[in-house]
Amino acid sequence: MRVLVSGGAGFIGSHTVVQLVAAGHDVVVVDSFANSKRSVVARIEALTGRPVELHAFDLTDRDKTERLFGEEALDAVIHFAGYKAVGESVERPVDYYENNLGTTFSLLRAMSRHGVSTMVFSSSATVYGADPPVPMQEDLPTSATNPYGWTKVMQEQIFRDAAVADPSLRIALLRYFNPVGAHPSGTMGEDPSGIPNNLMPFIAQVAVGRRERLGVFGNDYPTVDGTGVRDYIHVEDLAAGHIAALHRLTQTDEPVSVWNLGTGQGTSVLELLHAFERACGHELPYEVLPRRAGDIAESYADPSRAHAELGWRAVKTIDDMCRDTWRWQSQNPEGYPE
Ligand code: UDP
Repeated sequence: MRVLVSGGAGFIGSHTVVQLVAAGHDVVVVDSFANSKRSVVARIEALTGRPVELHAFDLTDRDKTERLFGEEALDAVIHFAGYKAVGESVERPVDYYENNLGTTFSLLRAMSRHGVSTMVFSSSATVYGADPPVPMQEDLPTSATNPYGWTKVMQEQIFRDAAVADPSLRIALLRYFNPVGAHPSGTMGEDPSGIPNNLMPFIAQVAVGRRERLGVFGNDYPTVDGTGVRDYIHVEDLAAGHIAALHRLTQTDEPVSVWNLGTGQGTSVLELLHAFERACGHELPYEVLPRRAGDIAESYADPSRAHAELGWRAVKTIDDMCRDTWRWQSQNPEGYPE
């Protein structure tokens, strides 16, 4: 297939592009580089041995999106592009709604005009809202606790409505749990700008000496050790889930399919920290801070639907995730070059 990957220079996008090429697909990347660096592209090319076909623009630009679909004979879209920082979304809600919904509108319009009916969408377990029962199953009601989360809930709804109006559409809503890890080569990984919001990149920056200590947001949750529990999934497993979903969409009659992409295993903040200490070979300082507003105690997937319907399951362990993250972070202490 000839696949358009929006946000293909981002963390999950870049790993998925490498796997798509390895699976024999033609890939066209579109990325605004609002949240990624151009040097990612050379890293992808080094891993695939092929040039990346790249379009650098913002998909909220409908005319450019329309032109791109006119030039490229696309079969499918994998839509990663979007703003993703929870705290920032509270401060700049209109930017989040405008960008995350706008890219989806441009893509859906262009897909409709050019007869592209296959879409794999980056959704999130955040759509399960404030206090979902664990393990989380796909048929739970959706809601959100911040503007970022609402953009995901709303985009899912937009896709569902579009699929009612156009039954030829085949859409996968992939609900990610907590993507971490890096390419096993150590050449691609997560490179957040500024102070990392997420746990794994923060730990990795403590390990490499860029930050003094980890702040643990609360140790009084009703969990194994009082710290928050999440379902960390290796980005390589996550990327493989996209390829499996893409293939499944070519064989299904369902207009909209929803799949959790997680491991089904919960890991606490301190368990992850200690696993990372094993990977990097030294102790990592931390201090306990108050709870972070909006956090839930436990989040982990019931991944059984993806296993049954996609034949996919996550295979990498927490130790794999820490080892690969450490290889990336120690080889690229400041992340990607400009
Ligand atoms: N966390 C933490 N310190 C940090 C960042 C995160 O203790 O600097 C905790 C957070 O409270 C949560 C877990 O780590 O329990 C995962 O947080 P992250 O932001 O990575 O993912 P999310 O909360 O969105 O699932």
